[in-house]
Amino acid sequence: MAGDILIIDCVATNRIVLKVKLLAAQYRVRPCASLEEAEDEIAASPPDLILVDTCARPSSVMAFCQKLKSHEETSLIPIIATGGFPTPGDRVAALQAGADDVLTKPFDDHILQARIRSLLRARDARQELRMREGTRTALGFAEASGGFIAPARVLLAGTTAAAVGDLAALQGGLSNAQVMGAPVAQIVGGPDAHCAADLFVLDFRDGLSDDKPLFRLLSELRSRSASRHAGILALLPKDARHAAAMALDLGASDIICADVEPEEIRHRCAVLLQAKQEADALRRTVETGLEAAITDPLTGLFNRRYAMPHLSRLSEESRRNGRQFAIMVLDIDHFKNINDRHGHAAGDEILRQVAQRLQDNLRAVDLLARIGGEEFLVAIPNSDVVHARTAAERLCALVGTSPFYVGGDRQEVRVTVSVGVSLNDGRDAEDVMDDLGALVSAADVALYAAKNGGRNKVSLSAA
Ligand code: GH3
Ligand code: MG
Ligand code: MG
Repeated sequence: MAGDILIIDCVATNRIVLKVKLLAAQYRVRPCASLEEAEDEIAASPPDLILVDTCARPSSVMAFCQKLKSHEETSLIPIIATGGFPTPGDRVAALQAGADDVLTKPFDDHILQARIRSLLRARDARQELRMREGTRTALGFAEASGGFIAPARVLLAGTTAAAVGDLAALQGGLSNAQVMGAPVAQIVGGPDAHCAADLFVLDFRDGLSDDKPLFRLLSELRSRSASRHAGILALLPKDARHAAAMALDLGASDIICADVEPEEIRHRCAVLLQAKQEADALRRTVETGLEAAITDPLTGLFNRRYAMPHLSRLSEESRRNGRQFAIMVLDIDHFKNINDRHGHAAGDEILRQVAQRLQDNLRAVDLLARIGGEEFLVAIPNSDVVHARTAAERLCALVGTSPFYVGGDRQEVRVTVSVGVSLNDGRDAEDVMDDLGALVSAADVALYAAKNGGRNKVSLSAA
């Protein structure tokens, strides 16, 4: 995974050593001797990640982190702060200033490389979600409303009883979170319900004589749908360097492999929970956005944007299995008159009820979409001329035979539709899109014939 990394360190040899290591891992590297130089570099071109050493100026580094995190354009750039951090409290201060991770010197190269990979992955995921949300907004869908935020669920899974003691501390330090404890064995191979949490804190600080259970747990949490998007913080013994690097590559969102204060654990938990909440919210709006993008808001049916790719899938399937599929274009007769006579709101109500009637009489495999003002499209897989004609006549009669009732005073409105039908002949078609275009035009021509023939009737394409 290539990336552009900015190194800030006042010691020239440190910059050179780091640069060589990162270049070997295929990153582009920009070394800077001072924070001022780094700010110029960032303004010229924001890097993918920043490695900053506190040198002798920890407070300037804190201010630098704070500044980057408070600006929209730079807020997503991951920052790793390195340094002496004489007390555990110094690490917490750097994290609180906005560093995504702190590595106390001397740190392990494998952990640094794994940390860079995991931070870049997390940043890419956030950027992707934000981009999709941007597309959704650009398409004209409203911003998601804030609304009620349910308490986050935190599962503390420990190998020993020591973890249980941390439960209370964690519960006390995290606002709006419900903290539960579980033995590791209960999660691995257990039901999905045991994996339903927003954050997993895996406490293996008591020893890793065998690291397989940790790796198995991580792979399982990342592969299950209930926990795929959860945050995972692994607490590991100080000397478990190999396991720490491996844990990050297996999907741990964060690790602590050092002597730390409970405050640092709480801080990292809070950061992971916030990231999870943001990602969930974005994912939800993207999902509802996608749904909105393919749904007609008046009738709830699929719209044209959904219908066309669906037809091309049908066409491909038809080529494979050699069976025909039918499409119908249904158009409400004299709908303008209905609007004129009963009002536009009544017209809308008619559209909804016609859609409902059609929907109730089609199978799940049939597609029903609203493709224009008072125009619907039906696609029926595995059909033939006789079947398609019968189905079209059934739908035509379904609308025309019994009246509709609209408005508060339940006015009776008689509605009819005309239907044009065409069938594909997948075997001859060279090109799917040509095939589809011809198919839809043929149904349109047939519809025109039905209108000319007196309306409230079905016409089959001659093609
Ligand atoms: P024809 O039998 O030839 O199809 O005649 P028509 O009146 O149905 O066709 P025309 O294309 O002249 O008019 C369609 C009307 O459908 C005009 C438009 O105002 C109305 N319409 C389109 N979309 C909507 C809608 O969402 N709600 C309502 N109430 N009316 C709509
Ligand atoms: Mg029309
Ligand atoms: Mg019409």
